[in-house]
Amino acid sequence: MRRYLIAGNWKMNTTRQSGVALASELAAAAAKEEAGVEVLACPPYPYLLPVGEKLAGSAVRLGAQDAYFEAPGAFTGEIAVEMVKDCGCQYVILGHSERRHVMGETDATINRKVRAVISGGLTAVLCVGELLSERQAGQTEAVLDRQMDGGYSGISESEAASIVIAYEPVWAIGTGVTATPEQAESAHEHLRKWLARRYNAAFSEKVRILYGGSVKADNAESLLGQPNVDGALVGGASLKAATFVPIIEAARKLAAGG
Ligand code: PEP
Repeated sequence: MRRYLIAGNWKMNTTRQSGVALASELAAAAAKEEAGVEVLACPPYPYLLPVGEKLAGSAVRLGAQDAYFEAPGAFTGEIAVEMVKDCGCQYVILGHSERRHVMGETDATINRKVRAVISGGLTAVLCVGELLSERQAGQTEAVLDRQMDGGYSGISESEAASIVIAYEPVWAIGTGVTATPEQAESAHEHLRKWLARRYNAAFSEKVRILYGGSVKADNAESLLGQPNVDGALVGGASLKAATFVPIIEAARKLAAGG
């Protein structure tokens, strides 16, 4: 049984004050460890420490939205894996579509970051997903295969245990358009088969595959109820406890048997 992971990607949002206030509400909503659901908050870098302080003692994990692959040194503007670890992060989101398509990150760059995060002892949330034009051209599975081949390049099975996948169709991110539960399930099943081919079937069954793309309270249960959907990476709806906590609750309900 895979444990649900409900992750909030705050992107370049919140102030220190509003981020800390949100963290307090999340800490109250997920105060204790739960067998069925894990909760993660990924604030902007400058707020990692104050947000982490508010989350301390709760069950909410702290994550970063990116990290550079080099060790600390002369890389102006970048943030090293050991720095986000030092701030209390356990997870790092990598290869988010905004980093791929706005900042121009390639699969090769993302792979270096994945390896740096794993060797730093953290868990990578590796995002993959197709553009609308790619879906319309029938290329979804080919795009996912390419991103998985790139992201997992040179990574052993034991290292791959420190990767969570997030399937995020680009056309569904921040658009209000959500993949149907069937579209999400089909992509997740494809990703799990890729893992079974690359590693083995037993390993593929252990990997958590999150869905991301306009997840909200009203669609969370139907998406999370799919057999291969093991959680959600939530953008817009993660910025308020009132919209994020119901997604956690949907996962709790399903983890408790529906
Ligand atoms: C995201 O940021 O990864 C995301 C899925 O955003 P949204 O939930 O706003 O679509």
